[in-house]
Amino acid sequence: MALMLVTVTDKNFQLIDESIVDLAKEIGVKDMAMDFDLVRSTGITTESCVEKIILLRRYAHQQGLNFYGTWETPYRNLMSSSWLNTPHAFCPAMEGKTLEFNVDGSLKTCGHTNTVVGTSDKFEDCFTPNSKYSQLIESRLPGNNDFCKGCEIEGSCAGQCQVTLESSRNDSQLVEKMCQLMIATTQRLVHEYLEGR
Ligand code: SF4
Repeated sequence: MALMLVTVTDKNFQLIDESIVDLAKEIGVKDMAMDFDLVRSTGITTESCVEKIILLRRYAHQQGLNFYGTWETPYRNLMSSSWLNTPHAFCPAMEGKTLEFNVDGSLKTCGHTNTVVGTSDKFEDCFTPNSKYSQLIESRLPGNNDFCKGCEIEGSCAGQCQVTLESSRNDSQLVEKMCQLMIATTQRLVHEYLEGR
């Protein structure tokens, strides 16, 4: 087995500790991904999420395992990408790298989003400058999204993934919590890097 996925909720938060990394190592896992179900788990604070990430990330690295989650994406962009060299986004869909063809003929930017950006019978139209697809990508670029303007990680996060935005559109508390997690985790990961961890 190469990859283990862990979803942390209110109910299992206390149970997720170093022992899960030990189990992963024992059964031959090389990559662990851990994320938080913030939609249903309203009782987990941002601080406790970040502490859990840092604790298990350090331990997993000591054990020779890769450890990541969506919380790492802004940090990874910050450390390895520059708009001076190549355009980048939080997710491949918003980088324009993926397009989903649906059985009803609609085109979407990924398999999870509800946003239709074109139809398969007019596939070429998708790539014209004023198409829904082009406009969606443009609206998500740094500086174009009013919600993110001025955020300290705007360039490397730029609105997270499209699905997150859609599912949290009617829940401002959830959006706030997700943003807090992204910002606080990025700050801590930068500190970890500076401290050589
Ligand atoms: S953390 Fe929130 S406000 Fe900041 S760039 Fe990401 S989505 Fe936008």
